Amino acid sequence: MTFKGAVMAETLHYDSIVVDSHCDTLTAMPDEGRCLAGPSAKGQLDLSRLKKGGVNVQFFSAFIDPDYKLTALHRALELIDLFYREIEGNNNVVLHAKSMLDIEEALSSDKIAAFLSIEGGEALEGSLGILRLMYRLGVRSITLTWNGRNELGDGVGEEKTGGGLTRLGEEAVVEMNRLGMLVDVSHLSENGFWDVLSVSRQPVIASHSNCRALCNHPRNLNDQQIKALANQGGVMGITFVPDFLGDNPSIAQVLAHIDHAIAVGGPDCVGIGSDFDGTGSLPTGLEDCSRLPAITSGLLERGYSENAIKKVLGGNFMRVIGQVIK
Ligand SMILES: [Zn+2]
Repeated sequence: MTFKGAVMAETLHYDSIVVDSHCDTLTAMPDEGRCLAGPSAKGQLDLSRLKKGGVNVQFFSAFIDPDYKLTALHRALELIDLFYREIEGNNNVVLHAKSMLDIEEALSSDKIAAFLSIEGGEALEGSLGILRLMYRLGVRSITLTWNGRNELGDGVGEEKTGGGLTRLGEEAVVEMNRLGMLVDVSHLSENGFWDVLSVSRQPVIASHSNCRALCNHPRNLNDQQIKALANQGGVMGITFVPDFLGDNPSIAQVLAHIDHAIAVGGPDCVGIGSDFDGTGSLPTGLEDCSRLPAITSGLLERGYSENAIKKVLGGNFMRVIGQVIK
């Protein structure tokens, strides 16, 4: 890239609203003995590096590791408490966003908008009442399953059962539509994916999933899924996890997944869902969240218009958040 090109990429990146729909920083921080403020030599994401990476809206996931299956609600609440403490302790640079208005406030005061999500519907322990309380606690997105089975449905690791959503899973989707929460189909079995699309009256997201046509991994979406997600107005966050990128995990491969998703679903269905702090290794040049401008440079080099790049960087997720959460 020429010097002029690099300046253009930088200007475009920092002028855009950048949204990252998934990270596992809440679970990684305590294990690594670090806090959210940063900058830290450990881990892949903190507030200081998010600023450097030009990120405006970051989803923070309370991930229910299978080790906590029997105490899933307890685990979720502890992670939510950690989220609250970290956000309050850094309220000069970050705010807990529960609405579009909150995001606008963050943008206008140069703060990062932190979105709280849950990864693993087992946290609801089978109760729509707990779902409603999670909404009150400020949770605005739920990844319905992780890889295994829970009360809401079967994850991708259970594909042999042919299972999709349970009846409770369907009710949870309807209730999330009503409350104004994002339904996240990443990790869900393919049958579960189709169940969600037939039940949901709102667009849904796949917060961190790539294209199966380029990397045949069950965590990725096939072309029919991408088309259907796009037709319903949904967005998939392209993730940087090497296992979901393919044989040659690299920035070029991340860009290839973006290309493919756009070719199949159009420019309105693609975003970024890094999974920072949820993966041990990352492509060279994308080692942490401060490196996100590399995506903008890569998209410019591939000839995308500024408008299309802005959509991928965050415009598409902003549209869905505006529609579903308000
Ligand atoms: Zn995940």
